Amino acid sequence: MRGPIGADPASIDKGLRARAGYTSGHRSGPDAGLQQENRMLYRRLGSTGLKLSALSFGAWVTFGDQIARDEARNLIAAAWDNGINFFDNAEGYARGRAEQVMGDVIADLRLPRDGFCVSSKVFFGAVDDPRPTQHGLSRKHVTDACHAALKRLRVDYLDLYYCHRPDPDTPIAETVQAMDTLIRQGKVLYWGTSEWSAAQIQEAVDIARAGHLHAPSMEQPQYNLLHRDRVEREYAPLYADAGLGTTIWSPLASGLLTGKYNAGVDAQSRLGQAQTAWLKDLVLGDPAEQRLEKVRRFTALAAQLGQSPAQLAIAWCLRNPNVSSVILGASRVGQLQENLGALRLFDTMDESVWQQVDAAFD
Ligand code: NDP
Repeated sequence: MRGPIGADPASIDKGLRARAGYTSGHRSGPDAGLQQENRMLYRRLGSTGLKLSALSFGAWVTFGDQIARDEARNLIAAAWDNGINFFDNAEGYARGRAEQVMGDVIADLRLPRDGFCVSSKVFFGAVDDPRPTQHGLSRKHVTDACHAALKRLRVDYLDLYYCHRPDPDTPIAETVQAMDTLIRQGKVLYWGTSEWSAAQIQEAVDIARAGHLHAPSMEQPQYNLLHRDRVEREYAPLYADAGLGTTIWSPLASGLLTGKYNAGVDAQSRLGQAQTAWLKDLVLGDPAEQRLEKVRRFTALAAQLGQSPAQLAIAWCLRNPNVSSVILGASRVGQLQENLGALRLFDTMDESVWQQVDAAFD
Protein backbone atom coordinates (compact mmCIF):
# COMPACT_ATOMS: atom_id res chain seq x y z
CA MET A 1 0.00 0.00 0.00
CA ARG A 2 1.20 3.48 -0.72
CA GLY A 3 1.45 5.71 2.31
CA PRO A 4 1.23 9.47 2.56
CA ILE A 5 4.43 11.35 1.94
CA GLY A 6 5.08 14.13 4.42
CA ALA A 7 6.27 17.48 3.15
CA ASP A 8 6.93 20.78 4.79
CA PRO A 9 4.23 23.32 3.89
CA ALA A 10 6.52 26.13 4.98
CA SER A 11 8.78 25.36 2.05
CA ILE A 12 6.01 25.99 -0.40
CA ASP A 13 5.41 29.64 -0.89
CA LYS A 14 6.68 32.23 1.55
CA GLY A 15 8.23 34.97 -0.59
CA LEU A 16 5.68 34.45 -3.28
CA ARG A 17 2.74 35.60 -1.20
CA ALA A 18 4.57 38.76 -0.25
CA ARG A 19 5.39 39.51 -3.92
CA ALA A 20 1.82 38.90 -4.97
CA GLY A 21 0.72 41.39 -2.32
CA TYR A 22 -2.28 39.51 -1.03
CA THR A 23 -3.20 38.76 2.50
CA SER A 24 -5.32 35.97 3.80
CA GLY A 25 -6.88 37.17 7.01
CA HIS A 26 -6.80 33.83 8.80
CA ARG A 27 -2.98 33.82 9.01
CA SER A 28 -2.87 36.68 11.46
CA GLY A 29 -6.28 36.08 13.04
CA PRO A 30 -7.41 33.65 15.70
CA ASP A 31 -6.62 30.74 13.40
CA ALA A 32 -3.02 31.77 12.80
CA GLY A 33 -1.74 28.51 14.28
CA LEU A 34 -3.89 26.40 12.00
CA GLN A 35 -1.29 25.86 9.30
CA GLN A 36 1.14 24.41 11.81
CA GLU A 37 -1.43 22.09 13.33
CA ASN A 38 -2.84 20.79 10.07
CA ARG A 39 0.32 19.86 8.27
CA MET A 40 -0.52 18.95 4.71
CA LEU A 41 0.25 15.46 3.46
CA TYR A 42 1.11 14.62 -0.11
CA ARG A 43 0.23 11.36 -1.81
CA ARG A 44 1.25 9.84 -5.10
CA LEU A 45 -1.43 9.79 -7.76
CA GLY A 46 -1.66 6.01 -8.13
CA SER A 47 1.54 4.65 -9.60
CA THR A 48 2.54 8.00 -11.17
CA GLY A 49 5.26 10.21 -9.74
CA LEU A 50 2.85 13.11 -9.25
CA LYS A 51 2.39 14.10 -5.60
CA LEU A 52 -0.94 15.73 -4.90
CA SER A 53 -1.96 17.23 -1.60
CA ALA A 54 -4.13 14.69 0.22
CA LEU A 55 -6.74 17.44 0.51
CA SER A 56 -7.40 19.40 -2.67
CA PHE A 57 -9.95 22.02 -3.63
CA GLY A 58 -12.69 22.12 -6.28
CA ALA A 59 -14.90 24.72 -7.93
CA TRP A 60 -18.16 22.89 -8.59
CA VAL A 61 -21.33 24.93 -7.94
CA THR A 62 -19.39 27.64 -6.14
CA PHE A 63 -17.01 29.39 -8.60
CA GLY A 64 -18.72 31.47 -11.28
CA ASP A 65 -22.08 30.87 -9.65
CA GLN A 66 -22.79 30.71 -5.90
CA ILE A 67 -19.87 32.86 -4.70
CA ALA A 68 -18.33 36.16 -5.76
CA ARG A 69 -14.88 36.43 -7.31
CA ASP A 70 -13.39 37.89 -4.09
CA GLU A 71 -14.50 34.91 -2.03
CA ALA A 72 -13.10 32.57 -4.70
CA ARG A 73 -9.78 34.41 -4.42
CA ASN A 74 -9.79 34.12 -0.62
CA LEU A 75 -10.53 30.41 -0.89
CA ILE A 76 -7.70 29.67 -3.35
CA ALA A 77 -5.33 31.79 -1.24
CA ALA A 78 -6.29 29.95 1.96
CA ALA A 79 -6.01 26.57 0.21
CA TRP A 80 -2.56 27.44 -1.09
CA ASP A 81 -1.45 28.82 2.28
CA ASN A 82 -2.34 25.48 3.82
CA GLY A 83 -0.37 23.41 1.32
CA ILE A 84 -3.14 22.47 -1.13
CA ASN A 85 -1.52 21.98 -4.53
CA PHE A 86 -4.38 20.64 -6.65
CA PHE A 87 -7.32 22.71 -7.90
CA ASP A 88 -10.11 20.83 -9.62
CA ASN A 89 -12.35 22.15 -12.36
CA ALA A 90 -14.39 21.16 -15.42
CA GLU A 91 -15.66 22.66 -18.67
CA GLY A 92 -19.20 22.15 -17.42
CA TYR A 93 -18.89 24.00 -14.11
CA ALA A 94 -21.00 27.16 -14.52
CA ARG A 95 -20.60 26.66 -18.29
CA GLY A 96 -16.88 27.46 -18.22
CA ARG A 97 -17.17 30.41 -15.84
CA ALA A 98 -15.71 28.40 -12.95
CA GLU A 99 -12.55 27.86 -14.98
CA GLN A 100 -12.40 31.54 -15.93
CA VAL A 101 -12.65 32.62 -12.30
CA MET A 102 -10.08 30.06 -11.16
CA GLY A 103 -7.64 31.04 -13.94
CA ASP A 104 -8.09 34.72 -13.12
CA VAL A 105 -7.54 34.19 -9.39
CA ILE A 106 -4.50 31.92 -9.81
CA ALA A 107 -2.93 34.48 -12.15
CA ASP A 108 -3.79 37.28 -9.74
CA LEU A 109 -2.18 35.40 -6.83
CA ARG A 110 0.83 34.64 -9.01
CA LEU A 111 1.04 31.03 -7.91
CA PRO A 112 4.12 29.44 -9.50
CA ARG A 113 3.11 27.13 -12.33
CA ASP A 114 5.44 24.37 -11.14
CA GLY A 115 3.95 24.49 -7.61
CA PHE A 116 0.30 23.71 -8.34
CA CYS A 117 -1.76 21.30 -10.42
CA VAL A 118 -4.98 22.20 -12.14
CA SER A 119 -7.52 19.97 -13.84
CA SER A 120 -10.32 20.18 -16.32
CA LYS A 121 -12.94 17.64 -17.33
CA VAL A 122 -14.55 17.09 -20.68
CA PHE A 123 -17.97 15.67 -21.55
CA PHE A 124 -20.85 17.97 -20.63
CA GLY A 125 -19.79 20.93 -22.80
CA ALA A 126 -19.41 24.56 -21.81
CA VAL A 127 -22.43 26.09 -23.54
CA ASP A 128 -26.17 25.88 -23.01
CA ASP A 129 -27.79 23.42 -25.36
CA PRO A 130 -24.52 22.14 -26.91
CA ARG A 131 -24.40 21.08 -30.57
CA PRO A 132 -23.34 17.49 -31.33
CA THR A 133 -19.64 18.37 -31.52
CA GLN A 134 -19.73 20.53 -28.38
CA HIS A 135 -20.04 17.72 -25.86
CA GLY A 136 -19.08 14.08 -25.40
CA LEU A 137 -15.75 12.29 -25.78
CA SER A 138 -15.15 12.35 -29.55
CA ARG A 139 -11.62 13.20 -30.64
CA LYS A 140 -13.01 16.57 -31.79
CA HIS A 141 -14.63 17.59 -28.53
CA VAL A 142 -11.86 16.20 -26.31
CA THR A 143 -9.40 18.34 -28.33
CA ASP A 144 -11.53 21.50 -28.56
CA ALA A 145 -12.46 21.33 -24.87
CA CYS A 146 -8.81 21.00 -23.87
CA HIS A 147 -7.89 24.10 -25.90
CA ALA A 148 -10.80 26.06 -24.41
CA ALA A 149 -9.92 25.00 -20.84
CA LEU A 150 -6.28 26.04 -21.34
CA LYS A 151 -7.48 29.53 -22.32
CA ARG A 152 -9.98 29.86 -19.50
CA LEU A 153 -7.55 28.58 -16.88
CA ARG A 154 -4.71 30.65 -18.41
CA VAL A 155 -2.20 27.79 -18.44
CA ASP A 156 -0.09 26.13 -21.16
CA TYR A 157 -0.95 22.61 -20.06
CA LEU A 158 -3.48 20.80 -17.87
CA ASP A 159 -1.92 18.67 -15.15
CA LEU A 160 -4.94 16.39 -15.04
CA TYR A 161 -7.62 16.00 -17.68
CA TYR A 162 -10.64 13.81 -17.02
CA CYS A 163 -13.40 12.27 -19.10
CA HIS A 164 -16.23 13.56 -16.91
CA ARG A 165 -18.55 10.61 -17.71
CA PRO A 166 -18.42 7.65 -20.12
CA ASP A 167 -19.75 8.46 -23.61
CA PRO A 168 -21.83 5.64 -25.09
CA ASP A 169 -21.58 7.27 -28.54
CA THR A 170 -17.77 7.26 -28.79
CA PRO A 171 -15.57 4.16 -28.95
CA ILE A 172 -13.27 4.10 -25.92
CA ALA A 173 -10.32 3.59 -28.31
CA GLU A 174 -11.02 6.97 -29.95
CA THR A 175 -10.95 8.77 -26.60
CA VAL A 176 -7.78 6.94 -25.49
CA GLN A 177 -6.05 8.00 -28.73
CA ALA A 178 -7.24 11.62 -28.36
CA MET A 179 -5.91 11.78 -24.79
CA ASP A 180 -2.62 10.20 -25.83
CA THR A 181 -2.22 12.79 -28.59
CA LEU A 182 -2.82 15.67 -26.15
CA ILE A 183 -0.21 14.21 -23.81
CA ARG A 184 2.32 13.85 -26.63
CA GLN A 185 1.61 17.46 -27.65
CA GLY A 186 2.42 18.59 -24.09
CA LYS A 187 -1.08 19.97 -23.50
CA VAL A 188 -2.00 17.41 -20.83
CA LEU A 189 0.21 15.57 -18.33
CA TYR A 190 -2.10 12.88 -16.91
CA TRP A 191 -5.51 11.80 -18.13
CA GLY A 192 -8.23 9.94 -16.33
CA THR A 193 -11.91 9.23 -16.00
CA SER A 194 -14.77 10.22 -13.73
CA GLU A 195 -17.56 7.83 -12.81
CA TRP A 196 -16.56 5.21 -15.36
CA SER A 197 -17.25 1.59 -14.47
CA ALA A 198 -14.28 -0.61 -13.62
CA ALA A 199 -14.90 -2.52 -16.87
CA GLN A 200 -14.71 0.70 -18.92
CA ILE A 201 -11.51 1.79 -17.20
CA GLN A 202 -9.99 -1.65 -17.73
CA GLU A 203 -10.91 -1.48 -21.43
CA ALA A 204 -9.16 1.89 -21.74
CA VAL A 205 -6.08 0.48 -19.96
CA ASP A 206 -6.00 -2.58 -22.24
CA ILE A 207 -6.34 -0.46 -25.39
CA ALA A 208 -3.56 1.85 -24.23
CA ARG A 209 -1.22 -1.00 -23.32
CA ALA A 210 -1.81 -2.80 -26.61
CA GLY A 211 -1.17 0.37 -28.62
CA HIS A 212 1.70 1.76 -26.52
CA LEU A 213 -0.46 4.76 -25.66
CA HIS A 214 -0.77 6.62 -22.37
CA ALA A 215 -3.26 4.80 -20.12
CA PRO A 216 -5.61 6.55 -17.69
CA SER A 217 -3.81 7.36 -14.42
CA MET A 218 -6.76 8.26 -12.21
CA GLU A 219 -10.49 8.09 -11.63
CA GLN A 220 -12.62 10.78 -10.00
CA PRO A 221 -15.45 8.99 -8.19
CA GLN A 222 -17.87 10.10 -5.50
CA TYR A 223 -16.69 8.74 -2.14
CA ASN A 224 -18.06 9.46 1.30
CA LEU A 225 -19.62 7.71 4.28
CA LEU A 226 -22.90 7.36 2.39
CA HIS A 227 -21.43 6.24 -0.93
CA ARG A 228 -18.48 3.87 -0.74
CA ASP A 229 -19.06 0.72 -2.75
CA ARG A 230 -17.48 1.67 -6.06
CA VAL A 231 -14.20 2.91 -4.56
CA GLU A 232 -13.90 0.08 -2.05
CA ARG A 233 -15.13 -2.88 -4.11
CA GLU A 234 -15.67 -2.24 -7.81
CA TYR A 235 -12.33 -0.52 -8.42
CA ALA A 236 -10.33 -2.73 -6.03
CA PRO A 237 -8.50 -4.75 -8.74
CA LEU A 238 -7.50 -1.58 -10.62
CA TYR A 239 -5.34 -0.07 -7.86
CA ALA A 240 -2.61 -2.71 -8.04
CA ASP A 241 -3.14 -3.97 -11.59
CA ALA A 242 -3.47 -0.63 -13.39
CA GLY A 243 -1.79 1.67 -10.83
CA LEU A 244 -5.00 3.69 -10.68
CA GLY A 245 -5.13 6.74 -8.41
CA THR A 246 -8.36 8.37 -7.21
CA THR A 247 -9.24 12.00 -6.58
CA ILE A 248 -12.55 11.65 -4.81
CA TRP A 249 -15.50 14.08 -4.83
CA SER A 250 -18.21 15.18 -2.40
CA PRO A 251 -16.50 13.94 0.77
CA LEU A 252 -19.31 15.64 2.74
CA ALA A 253 -22.11 14.54 0.37
CA SER A 254 -22.66 18.19 -0.61
CA GLY A 255 -22.54 19.26 3.04
CA LEU A 256 -25.07 16.69 4.30
CA LEU A 257 -22.46 15.02 6.53
CA THR A 258 -21.82 18.26 8.44
CA GLY A 259 -25.29 17.85 9.93
CA LYS A 260 -26.40 21.20 8.46
CA TYR A 261 -29.53 19.61 6.98
CA ASN A 262 -30.50 17.59 10.06
CA ALA A 263 -33.28 20.01 10.96
CA GLY A 264 -34.24 21.25 7.48
CA VAL A 265 -32.78 23.09 4.49
CA ASP A 266 -31.81 26.72 4.93
CA ALA A 267 -31.76 29.03 1.93
CA GLN A 268 -28.11 30.01 2.31
CA SER A 269 -26.80 26.46 1.93
CA ARG A 270 -26.18 24.50 -1.27
CA LEU A 271 -29.41 22.53 -1.14
CA GLY A 272 -31.42 25.70 -0.53
CA GLN A 273 -30.14 27.50 -3.64
CA ALA A 274 -32.53 27.82 -6.60
CA GLN A 275 -29.86 26.86 -9.15
CA THR A 276 -29.10 23.58 -7.38
CA ALA A 277 -32.70 22.61 -6.62
CA TRP A 278 -32.18 19.45 -8.72
CA LEU A 279 -29.56 18.29 -6.21
CA LYS A 280 -31.82 18.35 -3.19
CA ASP A 281 -33.61 15.03 -3.76
CA LEU A 282 -30.41 13.35 -4.86
CA VAL A 283 -28.51 14.35 -1.73
CA LEU A 284 -31.26 14.00 0.86
CA GLY A 285 -32.32 10.78 -0.85
CA ASP A 286 -35.42 8.71 -0.78
CA PRO A 287 -36.85 8.56 2.77
CA ALA A 288 -36.56 4.78 2.41
CA GLU A 289 -32.78 5.16 2.22
CA GLN A 290 -32.83 6.75 5.67
CA ARG A 291 -29.89 8.94 4.74
CA LEU A 292 -30.85 11.71 7.15
CA GLU A 293 -31.40 9.25 9.96
CA LYS A 294 -27.89 7.84 9.45
CA VAL A 295 -26.42 11.33 9.34
CA ARG A 296 -28.21 12.26 12.57
CA ARG A 297 -26.70 9.17 14.22
CA PHE A 298 -23.28 10.17 12.89
CA THR A 299 -23.49 13.79 14.03
CA ALA A 300 -24.67 12.66 17.50
CA LEU A 301 -21.61 10.40 17.68
CA ALA A 302 -19.33 13.28 16.61
CA ALA A 303 -20.85 15.47 19.36
CA GLN A 304 -20.29 12.71 21.89
CA LEU A 305 -16.64 12.48 20.78
CA GLY A 306 -16.29 16.27 20.85
CA GLN A 307 -15.32 16.29 17.16
CA SER A 308 -16.57 18.25 14.16
CA PRO A 309 -18.66 15.96 11.92
CA ALA A 310 -17.12 17.60 8.81
CA GLN A 311 -13.59 16.81 9.99
CA LEU A 312 -14.53 13.29 11.00
CA ALA A 313 -16.19 12.58 7.63
CA ILE A 314 -13.22 13.92 5.65
CA ALA A 315 -10.72 12.12 7.89
CA TRP A 316 -12.63 8.89 7.20
CA CYS A 317 -12.00 9.39 3.45
CA LEU A 318 -8.30 10.05 4.09
CA ARG A 319 -7.97 6.73 5.89
CA ASN A 320 -8.44 4.86 2.62
CA PRO A 321 -4.91 4.48 1.14
CA ASN A 322 -6.38 4.16 -2.37
CA VAL A 323 -7.62 7.73 -2.12
CA SER A 324 -4.90 9.92 -3.62
CA SER A 325 -6.65 13.20 -2.89
CA VAL A 326 -9.92 14.23 -1.25
CA ILE A 327 -11.36 17.17 -3.20
CA LEU A 328 -12.91 19.64 -0.78
CA GLY A 329 -15.64 22.09 -1.68
CA ALA A 330 -16.40 25.23 0.31
CA SER A 331 -18.45 28.37 -0.13
CA ARG A 332 -16.45 30.34 2.45
CA VAL A 333 -12.99 30.32 3.98
CA GLY A 334 -14.19 29.32 7.47
CA GLN A 335 -15.53 26.03 6.06
CA LEU A 336 -12.25 25.28 4.33
CA GLN A 337 -10.31 25.99 7.50
CA GLU A 338 -12.56 23.70 9.49
CA ASN A 339 -12.26 20.93 6.92
CA LEU A 340 -8.46 21.11 6.87
CA GLY A 341 -8.63 19.97 10.49
CA ALA A 342 -9.30 16.46 9.15
CA LEU A 343 -5.52 16.18 8.68
CA ARG A 344 -5.11 16.13 12.46
CA LEU A 345 -7.68 13.41 12.99
CA PHE A 346 -7.27 10.75 10.37
CA ASP A 347 -4.32 8.87 11.82
CA THR A 348 -4.65 9.84 15.48
CA MET A 349 -8.17 8.67 16.35
CA ASP A 350 -8.52 5.31 18.00
CA GLU A 351 -9.58 2.41 15.75
CA SER A 352 -12.67 1.92 17.93
CA VAL A 353 -13.86 5.40 16.89
CA TRP A 354 -13.81 4.39 13.23
CA GLN A 355 -15.78 1.26 14.06
CA GLN A 356 -18.41 3.43 15.72
CA VAL A 357 -18.46 5.73 12.69
CA ASP A 358 -18.98 2.78 10.35
CA ALA A 359 -21.71 1.43 12.64
CA ALA A 360 -23.64 4.72 12.40
CA PHE A 361 -24.13 4.02 8.68
CA ASP A 362 -25.07 0.34 8.90
P1 NDP B 1 -18.54 18.47 -0.36
O1 NDP B 1 -19.35 17.23 -0.31
O2 NDP B 1 -17.47 18.64 0.66
O3 NDP B 1 -19.56 19.70 -0.30
C1 NDP B 1 -19.06 21.01 -0.23
C2 NDP B 1 -20.17 21.96 0.23
O4 NDP B 1 -20.61 21.60 1.54
C3 NDP B 1 -19.65 23.37 0.33
O5 NDP B 1 -19.68 24.05 -0.90
C4 NDP B 1 -20.58 23.95 1.39
O6 NDP B 1 -21.82 24.25 0.76
C5 NDP B 1 -20.75 22.78 2.35
N1 NDP B 1 -19.69 22.72 3.37
C6 NDP B 1 -18.38 22.37 3.20
N2 NDP B 1 -17.73 22.41 4.38
C7 NDP B 1 -18.62 22.77 5.31
C8 NDP B 1 -18.53 22.97 6.71
N3 NDP B 1 -17.39 22.78 7.36
N4 NDP B 1 -19.66 23.35 7.38
C9 NDP B 1 -20.84 23.53 6.71
N5 NDP B 1 -20.97 23.36 5.38
C10 NDP B 1 -19.88 22.98 4.67
O7 NDP B 1 -17.79 18.60 -1.76
P2 NDP B 1 -18.37 18.97 -3.22
O8 NDP B 1 -19.65 18.30 -3.48
O9 NDP B 1 -18.28 20.43 -3.41
O10 NDP B 1 -17.24 18.26 -4.11
C11 NDP B 1 -15.90 18.71 -4.03
C12 NDP B 1 -15.34 18.89 -5.42
O11 NDP B 1 -15.36 17.63 -6.10
C13 NDP B 1 -16.10 19.84 -6.36
O12 NDP B 1 -15.80 21.19 -6.14
C14 NDP B 1 -15.60 19.36 -7.70
O13 NDP B 1 -14.31 19.89 -7.96
C15 NDP B 1 -15.51 17.86 -7.50
N6 NDP B 1 -16.73 17.18 -7.99
C16 NDP B 1 -16.59 16.33 -9.04
C17 NDP B 1 -17.67 15.68 -9.57
C18 NDP B 1 -17.47 14.75 -10.72
O14 NDP B 1 -18.46 14.33 -11.31
N7 NDP B 1 -16.25 14.44 -11.09
C19 NDP B 1 -19.04 15.88 -9.04
C20 NDP B 1 -19.07 16.78 -7.90
C21 NDP B 1 -17.96 17.38 -7.40
P3 NDP B 1 -22.83 25.41 1.28
O15 NDP B 1 -22.08 26.35 2.16
O16 NDP B 1 -23.34 26.04 0.04
O17 NDP B 1 -23.91 24.68 2.00
